[in-house]
Amino acid sequence: MKYYSTNNKSIRVNFREAVLKGIADDQGLFLPEKIKTLPEEIIRDFRKTGLNEIACTIAGIFVNNDIPDKVLSEIIKDSLNFEIPLVKVEENVFSLELFHGPTMAFKDVGARFLARCMSYFTETSKTITILVATSGDTGSAVANGFLGIEGIDVVILYPSGKVSPLQEKQFTTLGKNITAIEVSGTFDDCQEMVKLAFADPELKKRINLSSANSINIARLIPQTFYYFFAYAQLALNSLPLIISVPSGNYGNLTAGLIAKRLGLPVEIFLAASNINRPVPDYLETGEFKPRPSIETIANAMDVGNPGNFERILEMYDHSWKAIKKEIIGFSYTDDQIRKSIKQVYKNTGYLLDPHGATGYLALKEYLYDHPGIGIFFETAHPAKFHTIIEEIIEEDLIIPEKLLEFDNRRKKTVVISNRFEDFKNYLLSQITG
Ligand SMILES: *Cc1c(COP(=O)(O)O)cnc(C)c1O
Repeated sequence: MKYYSTNNKSIRVNFREAVLKGIADDQGLFLPEKIKTLPEEIIRDFRKTGLNEIACTIAGIFVNNDIPDKVLSEIIKDSLNFEIPLVKVEENVFSLELFHGPTMAFKDVGARFLARCMSYFTETSKTITILVATSGDTGSAVANGFLGIEGIDVVILYPSGKVSPLQEKQFTTLGKNITAIEVSGTFDDCQEMVKLAFADPELKKRINLSSANSINIARLIPQTFYYFFAYAQLALNSLPLIISVPSGNYGNLTAGLIAKRLGLPVEIFLAASNINRPVPDYLETGEFKPRPSIETIANAMDVGNPGNFERILEMYDHSWKAIKKEIIGFSYTDDQIRKSIKQVYKNTGYLLDPHGATGYLALKEYLYDHPGIGIFFETAHPAKFHTIIEEIIEEDLIIPEKLLEFDNRRKKTVVISNRFEDFKNYLLSQITG
């Protein structure tokens, strides 16, 4: 398997280079060149195996011998060392709980796999500085995944005051090879600064930069595993299958589109968003208009210019019509999110988090006049947003030990403005010798 840049089809690199670089030299994103559909028997046999076996089969296709099978299988075992249960919430409505990892958000899956692949590759390359912009969950998942890994420094940019205190503690208190940069600005500013850093010739020459955002293809590949695992947990022939994905930067949904090319029998994807809706608007009108992000209670999805949209366009040859056939967009206000959390809890006892709630809402709206079997992704543990949730359900939550662990530690950050020059100066000041 080779990877090409969304800006230039003639650039071809192998998995190793795509992972180490994160982004192509021409600033394009890497995409697998040809995805072959898996034979139906293999997908059917996924029912008899577990998540690890499914992951090994699929990862093998994408890694293509850049990592020996034995090492890859260890990487997968280490990365996916937690459950991903499919929970029935209502008749024909299932929640795929992706939040049982160490930082209790789905990004653990991608970040842990990426960190281990990179660690394997850096044994034979020079020190890498990973830049990552976060609206909350990426920072904690990436920090946790890379903490203490030799040869890799991680620099996390996040918008000051816009990340929940619990999330902030998860990546600002670690020390070691993890530095947190607090930016006076929005998530979009942070993402833009990271983009500019990759495009900056001086930085490129002096620092070995890479990315751990979902623009890195090694974040997306492991996310295809659980689409198949979810399907494998349903009764045979549970069709038509509808998958609803709470979306912000659109990495998770892009992984789903790749899974579909691999043969996942999904009828339609629902792109569930909060009021930040550049993609639902595109799906409706054919026009893509990035815009400043707006703060919501589903803050990991407060993205005004989703990084992976470029990949989606490229996968469908920029055809709006083709994209519209596979994805339907939905968008919900904070008020609608709150109401659904309250109602689902009251009616079923199942507790949604604000992100999963958008997925649930989209799924219900679609199923209303399109019968089928629906799965929505629960992307974070509700306790990560306990203040919001407690107010909605008027009950106290039990906060898992994993989340409390960091609460008493001291936050340590570097504070900068949202000007790229400040960020660049900081990075250059870190090079010694
Ligand atoms: C990052 C995140 C999302 C959005 O995922 P994308 O891959 O960026 O679309 C949704 N929910 C939670 C909890 C997240 O952390």
